[in-house]
Amino acid sequence: MQHNIVCFRTRHLDQPWSLENYRSVGGYKQLERILNDKIPPEHILERIKQSALRGRGGAGFPTGLKWSFLSRGKPIQKYLICNSDEGEPGTCKDHDILMLNPHQLIEGMIIAAYVLGTTVGYHYLRGEFWHAFQRCEQAIKEAYQEGYLGKNILGSGVDFDLYNTLGAGAYICGEETALIESIEGKRGWPRFKPPFPANYGLYGLPTTINNTETLASVPVILQHGAKWFAHLGGKENGGSKIFSISGHVNQPGNYEIPLGTPFSELLNIAGGVWKNARIKAVIPGGSSMPVLPGEVMKRTRLDYDSLSKAGSMLGTGAIIVMDEHTCMVNALACITEFYYEESCGQCTPCREGSGWVTRLIKRIEAGQGKPGDLDCLEQIAKGIEGRTICAFGEAIAWPVRSFLKHFRAEFEYHIEHGCCQVAARVR
Ligand code: SF4
Repeated sequence: MQHNIVCFRTRHLDQPWSLENYRSVGGYKQLERILNDKIPPEHILERIKQSALRGRGGAGFPTGLKWSFLSRGKPIQKYLICNSDEGEPGTCKDHDILMLNPHQLIEGMIIAAYVLGTTVGYHYLRGEFWHAFQRCEQAIKEAYQEGYLGKNILGSGVDFDLYNTLGAGAYICGEETALIESIEGKRGWPRFKPPFPANYGLYGLPTTINNTETLASVPVILQHGAKWFAHLGGKENGGSKIFSISGHVNQPGNYEIPLGTPFSELLNIAGGVWKNARIKAVIPGGSSMPVLPGEVMKRTRLDYDSLSKAGSMLGTGAIIVMDEHTCMVNALACITEFYYEESCGQCTPCREGSGWVTRLIKRIEAGQGKPGDLDCLEQIAKGIEGRTICAFGEAIAWPVRSFLKHFRAEFEYHIEHGCCQVAARVR
């Protein structure tokens, strides 16, 4: 299996982040080719569409289509933003791209800006990414020195300025409109949509926002060809993807593998379930995505469509593995408590509902659950889903509903016996 060939292609080198090493694998060659040969932006846009690259930040929206929303013709200021907020629990892939291969992201952003006709870009990093921020600052400085950024890039007449912007660590600033508000210096509150950022984005001007992994994939797609990238994965699921696998596995970490790889294969690469335990459950795309039983995941491939058919989503590709000794009531309590803490508080269903479900689950976990609590949980989750300004509402509702769907018996045991079924089995 081909692996570490797109965003992690410098990973095997000493100091993989250096400009010299990036150039040794063909870095900045695509930018030079595009500008020297004056390749029309429409031509590159077509290549990105053919590659079947889908957004790697969670939603999986086709990148070429997203870029086409930002009309090139209008003679007004437009912006490109890279979203490196990466707050979804279980996800740590973008951080590794920034630490190991920052120049590839910069080259991807310059090419994207050329296609979109934007002259200014912002790279938004979450507040805790101080080391990654410093590495990106250094990389941007080097790119300016080499003439890849700034006015008249490589004598082509094309301009592009790029700025790193550090957030303050709020989960919700990973939501694109909250991120825009944050860059504008305001509280990170998601905006009502529509209007979408392509029409009304940063400072009210047209803006495209892409995830780090998405933008960093662009130079490699152009280097090896759209067909090569598309064939790495399956139909409508082009390319490779970095999966952050964590939880009860022997070798947790980031693995860049083709989309469509069976989950069981990735589990093997990650050393299998720890302590020879059996697999019980897996959250395949970050903690906000629906949980699936381990047996279902063993039969599932890791791509957008297969996971959707199985009843969950690929999300950010953060795979959380839980072994047979995991208390699912406790696991859900940890998840909902996180979202309760991170709710921005604008919408009543999210602000109040996240607190209600957290307190209810904790009460059940403490052995003080009552008959009817599970129906109540289900009802609250349904009341949140689809009734909020941003998708954060689903981040609370989906875990609750999927844990109850697949592991209801465990919750019932807690209520009936006042203790944990898993702990009772161990005794
Ligand atoms: Fe804020 Fe939650 Fe409403 Fe999103 S859903 S805007 S996080 S209150």
